[in-house]
Amino acid sequence: MSKTRYSKDWKQIATAVKDASNWRCTKCDRICLRPGEKPSELTLSQRRVYNLQVHHYNFDPSDNRKENLGCLCSGCHLHYHRFRRGNISPGQLSLFQLNDA
Ligand SMILES: [Zn+2]
Ligand SMILES: [Zn+2]
Repeated sequence: MSKTRYSKDWKQIATAVKDASNWRCTKCDRICLRPGEKPSELTLSQRRVYNLQVHHYNFDPSDNRKENLGCLCSGCHLHYHRFRRGNISPGQLSLFQLNDA
């Protein structure tokens, strides 16, 4: 059983990266929801689509250098991991979606 090594201040790092990109997916340009934004016209599953996540381009979650991090919406993020064997499975990603709000 492998555990990913996210650093303790990961949440702050991730939020800073998202702020810097104006909460926009760097792949498809989708503007995602900020924490606390819960538009009532969106269903829960639609909101998940607008969930911005921070991706490690070298697939090493312990490498938090700026150039290794990029913002992706949940759809694009899953896409990256599905087509590249990383140490995070798509199943784990959906857990991050729930925690990473
Ligand atoms: Zn996207
Ligand atoms: Zn990723």
